[in-house]
Amino acid sequence: MTPRRLILIFLALLAVAPLVLPPFYVTLLNYIGLYAMVALGLVLLTGVGGLTSFGQAAFVGLGAYTTAILTTQGDTLPAWMAWLGASPWITLLVGLAITLVVAWLLGAITLSLSGHFLPLGTIAWGLSLYYAFGSVDGFGGHTGLPNIPVISFFGIALNTGERIFYLIWAFMLLALWSTQNLLDSREGRAIRALKGGRIMAESMGVNTARARVIIFLVAALQASASGWLYAHMQRFVNPQPFGLQMGIEYLFMAVIGGAGHVWGAIVGAGLFTLLKQWLQDWLPRLLGQTGNFEIIVFGFGMVLLLHRARGGLWPLIARWVPVRRAPRAIDSTAPPLPAKPMPTRGDVVLQADRITRKFGGLVANNDMSLDVHAGEILALIGPNGAGKSTFFNQLSGVDTPTSGSVVFLGREVTGLGARHIARMGLSRTFQHVRLLGKMSVLENVAIGAHLRGHKGILSSAWRLDRSEEAQLLACAAQHIERVGLGAHMHDEAGSLSLGQQRILEIARALTSDPAVLLLDEPAAGLRYLEKQALAQLLRRLKDEGMAILLVEHDMEFVMGLVDRIVVMDFGEKIAEGLPAEIRENPAVLDAYLGGVD
Ligand code: ADP
Ligand code: MG
Repeated sequence: MTPRRLILIFLALLAVAPLVLPPFYVTLLNYIGLYAMVALGLVLLTGVGGLTSFGQAAFVGLGAYTTAILTTQGDTLPAWMAWLGASPWITLLVGLAITLVVAWLLGAITLSLSGHFLPLGTIAWGLSLYYAFGSVDGFGGHTGLPNIPVISFFGIALNTGERIFYLIWAFMLLALWSTQNLLDSREGRAIRALKGGRIMAESMGVNTARARVIIFLVAALQASASGWLYAHMQRFVNPQPFGLQMGIEYLFMAVIGGAGHVWGAIVGAGLFTLLKQWLQDWLPRLLGQTGNFEIIVFGFGMVLLLHRARGGLWPLIARWVPVRRAPRAIDSTAPPLPAKPMPTRGDVVLQADRITRKFGGLVANNDMSLDVHAGEILALIGPNGAGKSTFFNQLSGVDTPTSGSVVFLGREVTGLGARHIARMGLSRTFQHVRLLGKMSVLENVAIGAHLRGHKGILSSAWRLDRSEEAQLLACAAQHIERVGLGAHMHDEAGSLSLGQQRILEIARALTSDPAVLLLDEPAAGLRYLEKQALAQLLRRLKDEGMAILLVEHDMEFVMGLVDRIVVMDFGEKIAEGLPAEIRENPAVLDAYLGGVD
């Protein structure tokens, strides 16, 4: 059975569910749809993006309270605002707008927090909003706001569980579809790089802080829409469902379902809701007394799940149903992406002037200067710990020098940040490979093309980015073929050998259309023939006018390939010259013989 057919069956089951199920189960399904929308936001935020939020229930409350207040308290509002409460469809938009503003403010103060401070931050504002719902005059206090009107859809009053069911699930499926689309796009690759790949992503030109804000806003908006539906389904709100306990439960749902998978949101919300219901019904009967036993059982169940299936249930289910996608089709007829003109051969493109980088008392780079010219290959060699990788970080903006300056294409770029330098045309690989192991080779390399695309969140979510996406993928595929990884195009990047992963990084760097390429030990782990192929590739790039700076330990490889060599030891430049000169240089021989290499 194809995944498409499976989805059609799922949709058909959903469509007939209210017609055949008893009302009680329709209500449960309504709740599952509402919860799944919030859990879906957490899949994006926590599962994919790695940002843990306990505060989502507050955004649900924001959506619910906005519509409740506007539609029931119209007489207490100033006259010019009264029209806002005229229809729930208007209050939906108002609620989303308010959520956007509030989430943006909360994001601004919490998203820069790292480690456990971020979840603590979400708890803090989650609590504040919860108490605000209960305390502000006109919000109905803890007794709540009754008489919320029903939603009308083209004249049909959605006044029963069966009727609002279709609206809830239409919202849910729309959210699922757009989230899935978003993840499968240029912006989606940037989002998926947030967890464990921020330095790499910034070096490829991705604004990772912006990507964090975006997923935070998307998750908040999905929660807010869920709140709007909830308010009009219940036709009553009080603060209770928007508190911290519910915030924790939403997170549970996302984790149970499988926090990294959009379908996990439905599985998690479904299982959580049904289990809770059944346990609530059966446990007191089994035990012969009343109490919140389901919570206790749940707690232990969660701990067990965290031990046994950290990825949640969806990956386990996905093994049995054919959800794996066919490899992405690559449209080789897509028009090529525009490329920047190469600098004139021989021009100085990158210039380091007296770069010093201290880590506490350790001087990792001391007064390092060098020039790189367009159309040359320059090797940076030196014993382990000499400071070569640190120097690369200073040049590429991954790190900021303690003193000294970097000039790239005639512009001072010291302290500018990796993203900006990448945009100007510098790209790099990493000594310790930085790629997203669960993503395909194609998708990893396509991250390199980030700056060459422009389609944003909405285009991605609504599939309006397909022609640009085809161009980006075709460009990535072309570079994968070029470096000789064509046979692994659709393999998981993590399944490649370490040598191949380094080559993947070169393809990724090339996909960004750089004028300068920094390669940190590109040949490490390669076999002889692979090294030959790499040398040939680098020569061709040089002939095209690219400037290449590389760190490499294999002297045979270096001597036969490069135009000039700079030698470092203890953070300083100890020699510079042609390969033949360096081979004879006594200081170099001394450093290598006396060094740790
Ligand atoms: P190489 O690439 O030449 O082998 P590195 O640049 O990796 O050398 O390291 C140079 C020195 O700087 C080493 O002693 C290393 O431990 C130190 N170093 C590098 N990065 C950091 C850091 N972030 N904090 C502290 N020390 C560092
Ligand atoms: Mg190094």
